[in-house]
Amino acid sequence: MRSAYDLELADLAELLPGEPAFRSRQVFDGLHGGLKRVDEMTNLPAALRARLAEVLPAGPTVVSEQSADQGRTVKWALELDDGALVETVLMHYDRRSTVCVSTQAGCAMGCSFCATGQAGFTRHLTTGEIVEQVVVAARTAAPRRVSNIVFMGMGEPLANWKHLGPALHRLNGPMGLGARRLTVSTVGHVPGIRSLTAEPLAVNLAVSLHSADDRRRDELIPLNRRYPLGVLADVLAEYVETTHRRLSFEWALIDGVNDTDRDLDELAAYARPLAAHVNLIPLNPTPGFLVRGSSPRRVAEFARGLTDRGVTATVRITRGQEIDAACGQLAGRTKVELRAKGAQDADT
Ligand code: SAH
Ligand code: SF4
Repeated sequence: MRSAYDLELADLAELLPGEPAFRSRQVFDGLHGGLKRVDEMTNLPAALRARLAEVLPAGPTVVSEQSADQGRTVKWALELDDGALVETVLMHYDRRSTVCVSTQAGCAMGCSFCATGQAGFTRHLTTGEIVEQVVVAARTAAPRRVSNIVFMGMGEPLANWKHLGPALHRLNGPMGLGARRLTVSTVGHVPGIRSLTAEPLAVNLAVSLHSADDRRRDELIPLNRRYPLGVLADVLAEYVETTHRRLSFEWALIDGVNDTDRDLDELAAYARPLAAHVNLIPLNPTPGFLVRGSSPRRVAEFARGLTDRGVTATVRITRGQEIDAACGQLAGRTKVELRAKGAQDADT
């Protein structure tokens, strides 16, 4: 148990022998519905609060908080109980507040254009560590309510289905977030997509496509060699047919790499039979990938090109780039590394 949010009601009861059953229910509700720390659970006797402080896992701790976009984007670095670092981002929009959650410390998928991939894999997060990121963000967001969760932080969520599945249920049940407000993003983890298809909770699925040509996609996304585009299309067709949910594709436009007219034709041909919606963003800069994002003009042209080819597309506005909080920039750097980088930037 690495977080108080890893505990089921029965586990809490076991941790509190001699207490009446309603006490563990109060603690569970205080954590999930109330977003409370133990010392804030004033409906409990002080002695019980003191005991809880001793027996509950301490969970992730905030080591840094940065904000951008006039406070509408906030990024946290959280240190886990073994020292691993993950990042969580909160984004306020006019009508919703979205939390971008990490599911792994690092990522084993090794996509060349992504800072998380460049940093390698440390470990899977537990269910509680996933859920607790939402709690940290929701406490800050208050009195605004967190309305949407996207699993687009560090890691490949579907490679950690064992902990993601129960986390979806925690967020949906005790924390009251509708399944339609939860979006899982995957690079194309086929066994995970099958698990999601079989899952009764119908959450949204976003697939990070970035190329509809196997040779190019193999280079950008090593997992494509294991699950090429044809196999992916079959499992996605099954997902759409079974769940009746709309599928979306993420496409980070890279100058001269995946923003040509040929890419448009290939993407449209891939997306149309699946009735998928395409989200476009210019590639964000990362230290290990030297090719640039497409120009705003090319991004707009690409979006129009998709519409002309019968595919709906949205251009996403990048958030938090200057605090390395944008898509693909989460690296979970340690404080020491951050300080070193600060010194380096000051030198140049
Ligand atoms: N591993 C999952 C979830 C992480 S989501 C996945 O890849 O889908 C992070 C999103 O940001 C993905 O769509 C990813 O492809 C995208 N991304 C990664 N690096 C990026 C970059 N440098 N610029 C823009 N988007 C990037
Ligand atoms: Fe992992 Fe997604 Fe980054 Fe690829 S893009 S390395 S799957 S986090």
